[in-house]
Amino acid sequence: MKTSKPSVNLAVFLLASLAGIVAVHATGPVLVPEKVVCAVSDRQDPQSPDRVHLTGWLGQRISVNESNRLVKLDPARLLEGYRKRPGRQSWDGEHVGKWLHAATLAWVNTGDPALRDKLDSTVAELIKCQLEDGYLGTYVDSKRWTEWDVWAHKYNLIGLITYMRYTGNMEPLSCCRRMGDLLCRTFGDDSGKRDIIRAGEHVGLAPTSVLEPMVLLYRFTGEPRYMDFCKYILRAWEQPNGPKVISRLLTAKRVDKVGNGKAYEMLSCLNGALEYCRTVGDHQILEACLNAWQDIVDHRLYITGAASYHEVFHGDFDLPNVSQVGETCVTVTWLQFNAQLLRLTGEARFAEQLEHVILNQLFGAQRCDGSAWGYYVEMEGKKPYSSTLDGHCCLSSGPRGVALIPTFAVTTDEDGVVVNLFDSGTAHVKLRKRDDRPGAARIDSDVTVSMETLYPADGRVRLRLESAAKDAFALKLRVPAWSHDAVIVINDKPATLRRGADGYVSLKRQWSGADVVELKVPLESRVIFGDHKNAGKIAILHGPLVLAADEALLGVTGVSFDALKAKSSDLAALDLRTEPARVPLNTWPGAQVFRIDALIQTNAIPIQPSTPLQLHLVPFADAGQSGTQYKVWLPVFKPPQVN
Ligand SMILES: [Zn+2]
Repeated sequence: MKTSKPSVNLAVFLLASLAGIVAVHATGPVLVPEKVVCAVSDRQDPQSPDRVHLTGWLGQRISVNESNRLVKLDPARLLEGYRKRPGRQSWDGEHVGKWLHAATLAWVNTGDPALRDKLDSTVAELIKCQLEDGYLGTYVDSKRWTEWDVWAHKYNLIGLITYMRYTGNMEPLSCCRRMGDLLCRTFGDDSGKRDIIRAGEHVGLAPTSVLEPMVLLYRFTGEPRYMDFCKYILRAWEQPNGPKVISRLLTAKRVDKVGNGKAYEMLSCLNGALEYCRTVGDHQILEACLNAWQDIVDHRLYITGAASYHEVFHGDFDLPNVSQVGETCVTVTWLQFNAQLLRLTGEARFAEQLEHVILNQLFGAQRCDGSAWGYYVEMEGKKPYSSTLDGHCCLSSGPRGVALIPTFAVTTDEDGVVVNLFDSGTAHVKLRKRDDRPGAARIDSDVTVSMETLYPADGRVRLRLESAAKDAFALKLRVPAWSHDAVIVINDKPATLRRGADGYVSLKRQWSGADVVELKVPLESRVIFGDHKNAGKIAILHGPLVLAADEALLGVTGVSFDALKAKSSDLAALDLRTEPARVPLNTWPGAQVFRIDALIQTNAIPIQPSTPLQLHLVPFADAGQSGTQYKVWLPVFKPPQVN
């Protein structure tokens, strides 16, 4: 969520607020400012989604997320549990707030009037469901503040605050204040108040994740009582019955030792903790979160960027390929966690994780046409796409992840412009003001970054910068960490490619509109040898893409998917070839199919080592689209033992 300090035309904002209409600038909606200035300045500035328009593969997935999913959801279904309490299941109340968050970002990106109409009417109808005392959940009175009740209030606050900030329609403000006040009256460590740890699931991780929007409500309203409530949550985490979020991450440095290890709820808490850290400048919290990140990357992350099975973080390298692997809610909160850390630290390693989880696990959970999402998207099996909301938290989480992409794809920092993700399209960004520096002539300079590329089908990215800035500024490129032979050419002359301390290659000069930067990243395929539960198997990566074998492309009859093994674990012996994807797999510009040599090996039929066969692989994101089986980790043919 954007919290940088935008330049705001106050008169436009006030008029718009009074009229309850969107405040539109020449460049798009004006972000309503917060009343509290954060103690920590972001190193990288997230962008309003109207500033970044992508048209390649990323752009296509963003576009169908809006047109085939968000604008098509039925508001009556989203509001059903509020209009007739209780909801059809205990967490039914979360969907409307998650939709409001994603749909607002998507509307800012596309400007689709149909989506804006749906947003306005859904907000108005949701507000009508609030009870006299401020309650806006789906529970009956006798069940209040159990299971997922505080949780639904969390999402309503996130959705409504996002809506207000981007549309300028302040109608929901009193609804949000009344929700916040009810939480402050109900929970606390004063006598007579309830213990929030006991007010929901997973050792209190679920209800206390309301920290994130309570920090946002504090910053938006400037009311100190909301900050007091946030401080209470931090104390509650460390109570004898609490999940010990911060203390365990500082000492054990393992996410599986926090609470009951429930991944979605814990990452939601950590995203709130980082929002708190940004607001008050608590560096211990940042340290705890960085420990969590390192632990997940080193010990608990699947090859596709998924985390958790049975929805929980387990022991080191305990990563089975199936067993409710890869809950999409975890994928999205992991994405948000990386986006938060990218803002706070400005380090490329977080953008690297963003690219990896988006191009593999997130897109692997989204059906190519955007209409449906998977709950558990495992390392092998069938994609469990569903186009409803019934029963599945993930079906309203996935669209949030996709809608956030334009906020961090291209950003700004104190040196200039930062390109984190590669896709065709344009970004219109504003350089940071630097009139406080001696000799700095730059004040609010606009920069347009145009990108042309077929990445990740082709490793060439052509960038052009247009700017009225009179002084030099940097173009920072995230050169993928897996690439060792990348080349940068500026106006046909090779440039030095050296990553700085923040992990980016920084190109500083006075840019003219005619300057062309070319980044050439050789997209080599590479074999990853499985270990632990995948010992003896291989996975194949191509550039940033994790590939998966797809049963739909078997191409032979009478052979089962399971009987085909990779011919070798040696890349040269596999004779990997690429070809353009054909219908129905040509879902994005440059989509490819990868062929490797394979052999049959089963217990049931005689081994035929000389039979020439091939396994066809596609990006994990495209695998299993037609309901067929897929697998990331490929068994390797074992030559028969000669006695
Ligand atoms: Zn979920």
